Amino acid sequence: MSTPDATGKALTVLGPVDPNDLGITITHEHLVIDLSVVFVDPGDAAGRKLAEEPVSLDNLGWVRVNWSSNRDNLVQTDIEVAKRESIRFKNAGGGTLVDVTPIGIDRNPAALEEISRATGVHVVMGAGYYVWPAHPEDFTSRSVDNIAEEIIRDVQVGVGDTGIRSGIIGEIGCTWPWTDNEKKSVAAAVAAQRETGAPLLIHPGRVQKAPIEIVNFIDREGGDLSRTVMSHVDIRIYDREILRELAATGIYIEYDTFGLESPFPPHAPDTLMPSDYQRIEQLAGLIDDGYLERIVLAHDNCTKHRLREFGGHGFDHIPTTVTGWMRRQGITQTQINTMLIENPRRMLTFV
Ligand SMILES: [Zn+2]
Repeated sequence: MSTPDATGKALTVLGPVDPNDLGITITHEHLVIDLSVVFVDPGDAAGRKLAEEPVSLDNLGWVRVNWSSNRDNLVQTDIEVAKRESIRFKNAGGGTLVDVTPIGIDRNPAALEEISRATGVHVVMGAGYYVWPAHPEDFTSRSVDNIAEEIIRDVQVGVGDTGIRSGIIGEIGCTWPWTDNEKKSVAAAVAAQRETGAPLLIHPGRVQKAPIEIVNFIDREGGDLSRTVMSHVDIRIYDREILRELAATGIYIEYDTFGLESPFPPHAPDTLMPSDYQRIEQLAGLIDDGYLERIVLAHDNCTKHRLREFGGHGFDHIPTTVTGWMRRQGITQTQINTMLIENPRRMLTFV
């Protein structure tokens, strides 16, 4: 099965486009998002005061290391801010932003369409459901087929009555231990991938073996591993053998938290955090081992403090800064183009 008008094309919020037009593509971002679901109470009076303050230069140092304990930081629903940040990306040579905000954390098709029209940046929108705390109340009673039908409709018809269509299924959220409802959500996403020919993108639970367990599940469900992206590999897998085992499955490995270097965030206190230097070293190792054509890159901007207007690195950090660091560390421009242009183009093209 397939989606006839999108087959051989990438599907953006403005409709199908020639994949050769995508250019530099960042494969995991959130232009508008409400990530309040991860908020953690700081637990003391001083922290609670900071938790309720708007993000400012005065508290930015605290917000950077406690980014999931400040309410304002977790909500970026300002379309004008998103436009200005997208233009910075475009001015740095960027072509396409993949917004994988799923249902439950404020996916906003009309906003994405407006941002794309105003800036000329291609935007690809996600579909499906995030981790269980963001599931709707009726999720337990819904069937795999029912959820799959919703995703298929988002891809082939559009979300609600907007006519704005999803060009990727994800990010599909999984936690650890992996819950039954999250397995159902992945099964539905795989069924929708089979029906539509869309790419699939997974947010795995926070243990090193979670990504491989999910890949095996997708394989059993009949998913297309060659068109499946595993997100957050740079903040899930630190063991070289496990990383090679995952890469050998044929999925896309996404290093998608470039620019984020503060470890142990309040909502995920066991998450180690590599520096961008360490990410680049890991990628160089994957390239040496023959996996260049399976790597895609992003920042996963999901808070205010990571945007340029709030003292952060923006959506353009990779083309502006990281690519220069990569070249310095021996990764060639041809290899960079493979990760930033060719791999996302292949991944986003409907079959
Ligand atoms: Zn994300």
